[in-house]
Amino acid sequence: MTDGVSPRIPFNRPGLGGNEFAYMRDAVDGGHTSLGGPFTARVVEMLSEWQGAADVLLTTSCTDALEMAALLLDVKPGDTVIVPSFTFVSSALAFVRAGARLIFADIEPVTLGIDPDDVARLMNDSVRAVVAVHYAGIGCDIDGLRSVLEAWPDAALVEDNAQGLYGEYRGAPLGSFGRFSTLSFHETKNFTCGEGGALMVNHSDDVDRAHVLLDKGTDRRAFMLGQVDKYSWRDIGSSFGLSDMLAAYLLAQLEERDRILAQRRGVFDRYSELLSPVADGEALSLPIVPPDRVPAYHLFYVLLADQSARDRALAALASQGIGATFHYVPLHSSDGGMRFSARPNACPVTDDVSSRLLRLPFYNGLSTRDMERVVEALTEVLG
Ligand SMILES: *Cc1c(COP(=O)(O)O)cnc(C)c1O
Repeated sequence: MTDGVSPRIPFNRPGLGGNEFAYMRDAVDGGHTSLGGPFTARVVEMLSEWQGAADVLLTTSCTDALEMAALLLDVKPGDTVIVPSFTFVSSALAFVRAGARLIFADIEPVTLGIDPDDVARLMNDSVRAVVAVHYAGIGCDIDGLRSVLEAWPDAALVEDNAQGLYGEYRGAPLGSFGRFSTLSFHETKNFTCGEGGALMVNHSDDVDRAHVLLDKGTDRRAFMLGQVDKYSWRDIGSSFGLSDMLAAYLLAQLEERDRILAQRRGVFDRYSELLSPVADGEALSLPIVPPDRVPAYHLFYVLLADQSARDRALAALASQGIGATFHYVPLHSSDGGMRFSARPNACPVTDDVSSRLLRLPFYNGLSTRDMERVVEALTEVLG
């Protein structure tokens, strides 16, 4: 329902870089449309240069990249993996699929990232991996996590960096801290190709096996590089690779990196500016960006006083045609989470944040006028 005058403000509107269709046409004309073509090579070069990764493998989704990380870590039944309760299902699902049981950790209230103190309490010998998520593209407490993990050399840090491409933590790129990190190029992310993802391999020892897993368990890449004279089945794996047509689309997006980031930063800053006069830390709180972090500006959220205030705001904004929305329903108390967890763990910060969080419309090129309308509607419902 709208007031009949103001147009709807959607929650998200995927943006175009400009060259998507021209590059896809080139990919088709060039004849190499499967994985590993010329556009993939250019995207891989851009991403590995940014992150300083040992290698980058483009996949059909972030979920697939996380599944590859689980396989590369040899996660198996009997193992456990620590995952924040406040995240998208895939951060957990990929490890369950490899047979692990989950231990859900709570988040800390500053960045809404996994809480290193809770992780420290939950660690034991069965933990093979700890998954960190940079919520909203704001780096979580990486140093806190790394100091906990120092005592547990058999547990790898995996960064689910689906929201954090081009964000930074203490001068280094998000995604460069874990043994593996993953990206998403889903329609809803900052840079997209409809569906897509990447596995960022940060240790050179993992590179060869990662390619075998991507190449359906074969050493096809070693063959292509002339390292073996025929290729054959070697290991587990699947068909995780991204089509070069989608890599072409993605390249057009990544080439617009500076403009896209500047636009998203503009939206984030404008919302902060418009809302700061009413942000009292009780009826309304804004996201916190610690001074040593550069966000990737994935989304803008506010925290309201309680669930009923949040739900009233949701309804009021919806009635004015404004596409605000809540976010993650806690995983630790979901049916799947309880079914696949190794043992229960209370996550009070997750429960609290999940019940009060509201995401505002956020996309490249969202106009100041529309942001003012959103803020007006929100302040009105707050009274
Ligand atoms: C979007 C998202 C995913 C899933 O990405 P896909 O590419 O759709 O698989 C996983 N984790 C987080 C934190 C996300 O935001």
